[in-house]
Parts: sequence; C-alpha cells; structure tokens
Amino acid sequence: MDFTDFDTAIDKLPRRRVGFYPTPFHALPNLSAAYGINLFMKREDLAGPSAISGSKMRLAEFILGRAVEDGVTHVITQGAYLTNSGLQFAAACLSARITPILVLTRNVTQHGELGEFRGNYLLNRTMGVETHVINVTGNTWDAAEQAARIADTIANRKAELEAQGHKVLVVGAGGAHPDGFIAHALTFREMLQQSHAAGVDLDFAYHTIGTGTALPGMLAAKLSLGHPVKFRSISVLRYNDGDWMNPGVIVERTKAVLGTLGAPVPHDATIRAEIDIDQRFIGEDYAVASPESSAAIRELARAEGVFVGPAYTGKGLAGLLDHARSGRIPAGSNVAFLHTGDIGNLFEIPQVVGHITA
Ligand SMILES: *Cc1c(COP(=O)(O)O)cnc(C)c1O
Repeated sequence: MDFTDFDTAIDKLPRRRVGFYPTPFHALPNLSAAYGINLFMKREDLAGPSAISGSKMRLAEFILGRAVEDGVTHVITQGAYLTNSGLQFAAACLSARITPILVLTRNVTQHGELGEFRGNYLLNRTMGVETHVINVTGNTWDAAEQAARIADTIANRKAELEAQGHKVLVVGAGGAHPDGFIAHALTFREMLQQSHAAGVDLDFAYHTIGTGTALPGMLAAKLSLGHPVKFRSISVLRYNDGDWMNPGVIVERTKAVLGTLGAPVPHDATIRAEIDIDQRFIGEDYAVASPESSAAIRELARAEGVFVGPAYTGKGLAGLLDHARSGRIPAGSNVAFLHTGDIGNLFEIPQVVGHITA
C-alpha cells in the first residue's frame, strides 16, 4: 500500500491528541564516527506533554481516543512501581479529563521498601494519581499467584467505581490494549520520511522490547509499505515460546494492525521471520541495572550529551553497540535507534540506576 492509503486508514481512527508529533529524528555524529556506522535516533522520549515522556504516549492517544468517545471516566492500568507506561497514561488521562489509577508492583528484595518518592513514582504523586502498590517477590512478569493478586486489586477497584456509576477502562501492563497497537505504525512511517529527508535509507532499526506494544505497529508499517529495513529488538525480559511475552504474541498483534490498515496479511512464518530478539542484555532481571547498560548510558552521554535510561533504553543501546562492535551491524550501515524514554528512571534507587558516573 502507499502512504496515502496508509494515512487514510489511520486518520479514520479515534485519537486524543496529547503529544507533539512527529517526534524528532537526528544523527548521532560522534557515536557514528566511533563505530563506523551512520547512527540516528528517533526521539519518542520527547513525545511530550512534559519533558519526561516515551513510547507509551502514542498508544495512549489512540486508546484514549476511543475511551473519550465511549464516555470512559476512569482508566486503570498496571506496571512495575517505576513504570514509564503508567506515568504516560496518567499524564494523557489527566489531559483528557479522565481519572487515571495505577496498580503498581514492587519487588521489595530488589528495590527496598517504598519509603521515598523517586523517579516516575514521584511524578505520579505530583500529578495526584491514585496508586495502589502491591509488594511482589521474584519475577513479576509471569508468577501466576502475583498476577492473580494484581487482577483482584484491579477488579475490586473497577467494581467499586462501577457501583458508583462510573465507566472504567482497564489497560494492560505497558499499555497493551488492542486499540493502541496501530500507534507505532506511525513511528516507522515518520522514520521513513525523516530518514529520506536526511538522505539515507535505513538498513536497521533497533529498539528495546518489553511488553510488545511498539514492534507490531512498526512491523506492520514496514510490511504494508514494503520497506526492506530489518528490525532488531533488544529485550529486557525473557522472550521464548512459552514465556509471558513471546514471538507468537508479536505475530498476532502485527496481523491485527495489518488488518486495521487494510493491508494484505502475510503468513505467520513471514512475519515471524522479521522478528529478531536478542535476550543477552536483560542482565540480572527486569529493572535491575546491568554493567553493559550503565556503560552504554555513559558512552552516549559523553559522546552526544543525550541520555537513555537504566530499565530499558540503556539495555537496548548496549545491545546495539555490541552488535556494531561484533560486526552484526556491517560497517557503513544506516541504523536508527528508537529512544523509547525511561529518563525518569535515571533518578531512581542505585539498584535500578547502576553506577553511571563511574
Ligand atoms: C515500554 C517500554 C519499552 C518496551 O516497549 P514495548 O513496546 O513494551 O515492547 C522500551 N522502552 C521504554 C522506555 C518503555 O517504557
């Protein structure tokens, strides 16, 4: 399909404008020279409406677009206590005059008691957001008992609000809701236009993958617009078949976005062949600093004066730089890194931030 059909399909969807789009796209000349590649950055971290933003704002615009039409009064979403997604959904909800409610998990062993307000949690409190914190142990992403406790908290609060006559929308962790997956088709569409304006054709697009909300839209845009770019995803959690998040989930979401675009839907195997997830940069666990990530945060800051964060984008950039060093990115390639945000987490506890000034 061409750009006009693509835009027409997306313009038909309900959308509540909150962020500032298109987000910037720019060269990283000093890192490019150091690695012998042409490296660019797409700045979803600058999506707005405030300086600490990220990739979930686009999802929120589409999800809240329909929510406003449907008369939703409250949005309940969940995530880790330092969630970027929760912060952005809260901001978007407030601007749309919808009440946001966050159900947050905290791994006390890793992150200590919630004694101080820091990072994204501080910002949520500043916005006056109702938060429910659930203490969890171990890996919060797939433990059934913990998932049940979170689900109960959400269901109880929803029932309470509905009994008072309110209309409640529940949005999954990371902003995973069917209305949102189309959002990042626009991200790749912007990147194509912006890279052409910069006189390059992208060979690779790198990003950090977690709850799988950005990749399906970007893949659908690539497939429907017929561009040869290769997506490479660096994960912050396990992504094998049988895990909570896995390539099969990405395939299903990509098919759904292609359907919404009115684009041909290829065989599952064709979509699956586009998915390339490197799990070597997770480190010890989700939201635990890794030495590779701390080094990448430092390296970017010292070369370009740009910051990435410790829970997601530092790990993603560490993966990209490793691929550049090892030759998995051939010299001279045109490469984009999707900066998905995570800046609030630079102001978190040392276990999350790591030793970035060392
Ligand atoms: C959510 C998030 C990711 C992961 O993106 P998914 O679309 O959930 O896979 C990466 N970086 C940041 C900063 C995020 O908040």
